[in-house]
Amino acid sequence: MDHFDYRGDDLFCEGVSLARIAEELGTPTYVYSQATLKRHYGVFDKALAAVPHLICFSVKANSNGAVLRTLARMGAGADIVSGGELMRALRAGIPASRIVFSGVGKREDEIAAALKQKILLFNVESTSELRTIARVAEELQCKAPVALRVNPDVDPGTHPYIATGLRKSKFGIPLHHAREVYEQALGFSSLEVRGIDCHIGSQLTSVGPLVESVGHVVELAQDLLARGVNLSYLDIGGGLGIRYSDETPPTPDDYGAAVVTLLKQFGQLPLTVITEPGRVIAGNAGVLLTRVLYRKSNEQKEFLVVDAAMNDLLRPSLYGSFHGIQPVRRPGERVELELVDVVGPVCESGDFLAQERPMPPVAEGALLAVMSAGAYGWSMSSNYNSRLRAAEVLVSEDRHALVRCREEVADLWRHERDAPWL
Ligand SMILES: *Cc1c(COP(=O)(O)O)cnc(C)c1O
Repeated sequence: MDHFDYRGDDLFCEGVSLARIAEELGTPTYVYSQATLKRHYGVFDKALAAVPHLICFSVKANSNGAVLRTLARMGAGADIVSGGELMRALRAGIPASRIVFSGVGKREDEIAAALKQKILLFNVESTSELRTIARVAEELQCKAPVALRVNPDVDPGTHPYIATGLRKSKFGIPLHHAREVYEQALGFSSLEVRGIDCHIGSQLTSVGPLVESVGHVVELAQDLLARGVNLSYLDIGGGLGIRYSDETPPTPDDYGAAVVTLLKQFGQLPLTVITEPGRVIAGNAGVLLTRVLYRKSNEQKEFLVVDAAMNDLLRPSLYGSFHGIQPVRRPGERVELELVDVVGPVCESGDFLAQERPMPPVAEGALLAVMSAGAYGWSMSSNYNSRLRAAEVLVSEDRHALVRCREEVADLWRHERDAPWL
């Protein structure tokens, strides 16, 4: 459920008309609904109420400070994958004691920064990384809290670019090596082995693979506990999918129930469950507001050329993803739909937001809302074609605030320097 609905014939985010936001702040602009963010977080939290748990929002899904602060106020932690995300999470008021650090390529300076801040857990993805963390911790004369990210070799049935739990993927430590690597980890005096972690992929539309992988991981956890390893955390990753078009992903309730049932089968475990949801919290809490610049047709196709492009929302170009597109001004009831490609100004044929999409007739100058753009939208945006990155707006009831300004032209070369011989 989200809070983007027509009132009369105008599309609103909560109590604010999207046309008004576009009028005031221009396009392309991301608009986030705070009520939707809170609702999704709340539902997820409740679904896991039967077990001790911590929800670490995946910052890469949406790293805007206002979004992070909204979740921080609700008690969320953060799952980070870089030093930049660490500082963003802290700045938004997420305590270090609720931050877990994932990712295959943590740099020494990032590890040191996270250690100094005293984060909850490093999710370690290789023996080399384990050694590096141990060494940095030793240099800083502290103990690094670690979990091993295991790769359960489970097919999550999602787009190959976002499937992470298969044997062939770069992520995690193969399950059958995990015991051995735990032994190694226990041998470092500067490491404190505290957990076990897995994350098999994103936009998962059935609980089966999730439950299967959690099952493998809990078995391993049980085994380690029996051997006296002092585990406290079971991190089951993120990945729950959302509805972009006609998918029927499990609800957070289904997911929570499946996880709780599975855990209960193992009896009392002294483990706090950590989850790392991103998309399911933020995806349907945001839209990308864009204006139609031109209509054009060639012999084969009708095009709507809009002012948002692949640099603003990469998902359609990168994964062939579907995003619903709604006119901000609702057309009459009995209009005939036409098949259009919604494309941006970028000089790539891969620059599209929708292809062969049945849409009501849309005039030049009209506003469109690209739906479900709250996760992996702005956070994946770039300056390609020297386009200015979009503004971001947060709505709460009948208030709205600009929570990131649209970039200015001077931002494009702010970090460039002249070569002295030019
Ligand atoms: C991206 C990522 C997530 C979040 O995935 P969603 O599909 O957005 O829930 C969680 N954990 C890790 C390690 C990730 O890389």
